[in-house]
Amino acid sequence: MAASFSPREELILYCRFCQKTMPATLERGIAGTGRVVDKEATFEYICTKCHRSHCFYGKDIIEAVPVNEDEKEKQPSEEAETAEAEVREYVPTGHYLIGEEISHPSHEVPGLIVGKEPGIPNRIIVQFGKVITPLVEDIE
Ligand SMILES: [Zn+2]
Repeated sequence: MAASFSPREELILYCRFCQKTMPATLERGIAGTGRVVDKEATFEYICTKCHRSHCFYGKDIIEAVPVNEDEKEKQPSEEAETAEAEVREYVPTGHYLIGEEISHPSHEVPGLIVGKEPGIPNRIIVQFGKVITPLVEDIE
């Protein structure tokens, strides 16, 4: 699968307007005609509460899990969890994806990546239980 990329329809994102994590749904790929475009495209997610948009590059968001049969039942089943159960250990040199879970030695629970702050360095916004904290990424 060369450059094509299929983003998740829904992500848990940190909404800076709501100032908490909220489900957000994929609105569209801004730089593409369909929903399967490439990782350099920008994707717009809409906060389900305040309906404001949050834009991310495909390379910064987790890819949709291929669905075996129909996508009719969306239950948080154990199968779905094992399918995406790779909890990577956080290291500042890593590159992380929104929607991915990471482990960090300072936190007992795995952290869910709920946002990104581009900058020098780039930061990821991670939710560990009730704690939301930024962590640097992409450090050379
Ligand atoms: Zn919001």
